[in-house]
Amino acid sequence: PVVTRFAPSPTGYLHIGGARTALFNWLYARRTGGKMLLRIEDTDRERYTPEAVQAIIEGLAWLGLDADEPPISQFERVARHREVAETMVANGQAYYCYASQAELEEMREKAKAEKRPPRYDGRWRDRDPAEAPAGVKPVIRLKAPLDGETLVRDVVQGDVRFPNKDLDDFVLLRSDGTPTYMLAVVVDDHDMGVTHIIRGDDHLTNAGRQTLIYRAMGWDVPVMAHIPLIHGPDGAKLSKRHGALGVEAYRAMGYLPVALRNYLVRLGWSHGDAEIIGTDEMISWFDLPDINKGAARFDFAKLEAVNGHWLRSMGDAELVETLMTERDYLPNGAILKSEPDDEVARKLLAAMPGLKERAKTLVELTDSATYLFARRPLELDDKARSLLDEAGRSAVSALLPRLSAAQDWTAASLEAVVRAYAEESGLKLGKAAQPLRAALTGRSTSPGVFDVLAVLGREESLARLSDQAG
Ligand code: GLU
Repeated sequence: PVVTRFAPSPTGYLHIGGARTALFNWLYARRTGGKMLLRIEDTDRERYTPEAVQAIIEGLAWLGLDADEPPISQFERVARHREVAETMVANGQAYYCYASQAELEEMREKAKAEKRPPRYDGRWRDRDPAEAPAGVKPVIRLKAPLDGETLVRDVVQGDVRFPNKDLDDFVLLRSDGTPTYMLAVVVDDHDMGVTHIIRGDDHLTNAGRQTLIYRAMGWDVPVMAHIPLIHGPDGAKLSKRHGALGVEAYRAMGYLPVALRNYLVRLGWSHGDAEIIGTDEMISWFDLPDINKGAARFDFAKLEAVNGHWLRSMGDAELVETLMTERDYLPNGAILKSEPDDEVARKLLAAMPGLKERAKTLVELTDSATYLFARRPLELDDKARSLLDEAGRSAVSALLPRLSAAQDWTAASLEAVVRAYAEESGLKLGKAAQPLRAALTGRSTSPGVFDVLAVLGREESLARLSDQAG
């Protein structure tokens, strides 16, 4: 059975690129009936905080990409990493190296002078450890092959060959007994039974070195899929301005998990020309050979469009529920706490058909719901104020008695009242409707004004209109 893994370093948040890597691992596990594991690469204790781990777990949970087993801490496995390094020494696949800092520095200088990449020269490779200088704590280095090449058969990148002369005897275990990243990843992936490594292609060169460790231990090398990184719209490395943010920032911008999954899966993977892809479809379509080789470009406009699609596809009650749970994460969500919850939910539900027509994010949806909770007398924005000039106020005044005489308070019958007034007074409909909107919502844009009247109800509507009547 397939076992994939997501192996983030806890940096304080779940980065959007990491979220895409997690999604691909999750999809492949779902698609094959396997499982996805989560390993926290927390060996850098200077940067480690429990909050940073929590941010990853919460980010994954919000995106609906939970791992199938509790997370594994790489740091807690150091004894095992050490044991493997020592086994490799015992088997003659690795050796203790007592080279001093000064010696290593000298090697680096020499490489620089000769204009070639620095490389450990193997001076302890075949030397008798009995010659070790007293008091020096050694590192453990891999006894890497000296010639030939190491082949990485990558599902995305194709066959990638590394000449072994470029892969020197790199360090597996530091002199303080801690493993290097290279060793820890291989030991953990092996012990976790990982069959498929799906990760960013910034790790492709590591794959060559890691392959040497698998070989040295006689372990099976997992299938590798190195996925192209996400670039900004300009093709350069993804910057904050262009989307290099944590998933919690996307949550605060009002994106839906289903939409973010849809958007992320298309960054580097495609299925024909499908743009709108539901999660079940993704699971049934996703496969590693379909991952693109070229870098994907992040595009906020596209993300917004995809989000708007998913937002409008949701039922009204479901959207109300989503707003109620997400309000704590939205910068303008406090407005959804201005009345008791059941009252807020009731108003939102009544207004939802009008609200969701125009919104592309939950932030926009919340913003257009503001009129529901506004207190009288309403604060007017600049455009609303100019709509309520003398002519505007007199239109509101003229409409007030007609509206209050309306038999039934429905959008259709209120529209008929306003149309009749406009016709009788030779006004374009907008000349009557716009001041009405301004008086009812305090703004120049809102859901359809007749819906606004119907949703606010007779009493509140008439009160807001009299506040602004000339
Ligand atoms: N911890 C590494 C990172 O966050 C990933 C290691 C791996 O996937 O092998 O970039």
